[in-house]
Amino acid sequence: MSTTAPKRLANLWDDAKAASMSEPERLVYRSNLLGSDKRVTNYGGGNTSSKIFQKDPLTGQDVEVLWVKGSGGDSASIKLDGFSTLYMDKLRALKGLYRGLDYEDEMVGYLPHATFNLNPRAASIDTPLHAYVNRPFVDHMHPDAIIAIAASENSKELTKQIFGDTIGWLPRKKPGFELGLWLGKFCEENPSAKGLILESHGLFTRATRPRNATKPPSASSIRPSSGSSSRPKARPFSVAKPSNPFLPLTAAPLPPS
Ligand SMILES: [Zn+2]
Repeated sequence: MSTTAPKRLANLWDDAKAASMSEPERLVYRSNLLGSDKRVTNYGGGNTSSKIFQKDPLTGQDVEVLWVKGSGGDSASIKLDGFSTLYMDKLRALKGLYRGLDYEDEMVGYLPHATFNLNPRAASIDTPLHAYVNRPFVDHMHPDAIIAIAASENSKELTKQIFGDTIGWLPRKKPGFELGLWLGKFCEENPSAKGLILESHGLFTRATRPRNATKPPSASSIRPSSGSSSRPKARPFSVAKPSNPFLPLTAAPLPPS
C-alpha cells in the first residue's frame, strides 16, 4: 500500500466570479460546486443553506431568511428556484411548539407557515438540520470517504482519532426536528468545531466566513489518540474544503444562541 499522502481536492471556488453575485447566487454557486463532485457528495445527495438578511416584502424591514435546498433536485444542478426560503424567527418559534420525539413528524406541517416571500418550493425534512446550526452557512454532504468513517462500528472513536475536536460526532438519527435540535445543541456546546459526522449518514459543516471556517483541519491539528501508532496516519479529508465558498459581505450575523 502506498504511504504517500493523498492530494486534497482542488478548491474550485473563484473569488472573482463570486464577487459579482448576490448572496443567494453564491449559495447556488457553492451548491453546484459541491454537488458536482461525487467525491464530495454521492449522487444527488446533500443539501446546503445560507442565512441571509433580506427586506421583508410586507414590512420593508431586514429579516433573517434561511435559504435551504428544497425538496427534490440535485445540488449539482440546483438553481435559485430549487431553494426554499423561510423566516428564521418563525423557525426558531417552532421550538416552542415541539411536543417531543413522539410528535416530531407534525413539525413538518408547520414549515410552510414559515415561508418567506410566497416561495412555492416546499421545504425539505432537512430544514431544521440547517436552521438550528448557529452559523450563516451550512453544508450537509454525503462523501463516500466520510461515510466510510460514519458507518464504521467504532465511528465515534474513529472520528475523534482522525479529527480531534475539529469535527464532532452524533449518533444515528433520522433527519427531522429532533435531529435539528441535536445539531443546534452540539453547535452551541462546541463553538470551535467546524462540523460533525452523523453516524451512518454523512457530514455537516458550518461557516461564519468562507475560507477559514470550512477549511479542512490541518494535519497538525489532528491529534491521534494514544495507541494509534499502528494505524495509518490520519489525513484531513478534503471533503470539507469546497464548502468554503463565501465572502463575508452580507453574511448574516450569528443567530442568538
Ligand atoms: Zn443526508
